[in-house]
Amino acid sequence: MSSRLPNKTALITGAGSGIGSAIATLFAQQGARVALFDLDGETTEALAAELKQQSGQHCFAYSADVTQPEEVQRAVSEAQQALGPIDILINCAGVNVFRDPLALEDDDWQRCMEVNLKGPYNLIRSVLPGMLARQYGNIVNVASVHGHKIIPGAFPYPVAKHGLIGLTRSLGVEYASQGIRINSISPGLIMTPAAEAWLASCPDPQAERERQAALLPCKRIGEPQEVAYTALFLASDEARFINATDILVDGGRSQIYHE
Ligand code: NAD
Repeated sequence: MSSRLPNKTALITGAGSGIGSAIATLFAQQGARVALFDLDGETTEALAAELKQQSGQHCFAYSADVTQPEEVQRAVSEAQQALGPIDILINCAGVNVFRDPLALEDDDWQRCMEVNLKGPYNLIRSVLPGMLARQYGNIVNVASVHGHKIIPGAFPYPVAKHGLIGLTRSLGVEYASQGIRINSISPGLIMTPAAEAWLASCPDPQAERERQAALLPCKRIGEPQEVAYTALFLASDEARFINATDILVDGGRSQIYHE
């Protein structure tokens, strides 16, 4: 088995589902010790046990809400005690909040910003002191094509994802001289439970699935593992001169101006 993350400890949020789960699986296969953070303790614990058995790596699950800084700090301390200092942080936990701007409740705005933008910052604040002490750390934020282009009807999610790319660039520059790299990935439509739930909410899910695939230059919807491989590259030392930038993983869709 190849090993692109030998002796590394990675913390992944949103690891219980979709893209986060694919990243946790690939990282364990590639030699990393993995701390799986999610709201949903049971699913994540089952995945951690499975990964440990398959890969032989130490993999532990932590139930933590990324919007709660104290909870995050406590879970990060526990993970560091169990697995050692965190070398890699993947901020993948996120939620879709798509509303009519004038009908949006304050609570929905708050939840969107807290999970998608403040959550990653909470995690960064918790792991950064340890990374700075060792002058080594790789952080990857999972943003979105919604952080680059606007799709009508998706407000305020793109506001948070634009902010997350801004956070990536800003902090990436801030700590670049101290051995820290911070990058983001912007996936297009990727078939995960969240995407399935969105499709199921459409009037004709199958027709919408076909329409979405047809919109893509490659004529197919992306897979979680395709995002995971991009995260693997960015989180590994292979990408050691890549910092404060964003990689689009959308099959070329966002480059089209007109059909
Ligand atoms: P998903 O819903 O399948 O998984 C998200 C995970 O995040 C879930 O396990 C959920 O429990 C966890 N989570 C949500 N809120 C949390 C919180 N407050 N604290 C801790 N964990 C929390 O979603 P996904 O499609 O795999 O998306 C993963 C990331 O990728 C998100 O940031 C999303 O915005 C982004 N993204 C997804 C797509 C796509 O098409 N699937 C496209 C672009 C960007």
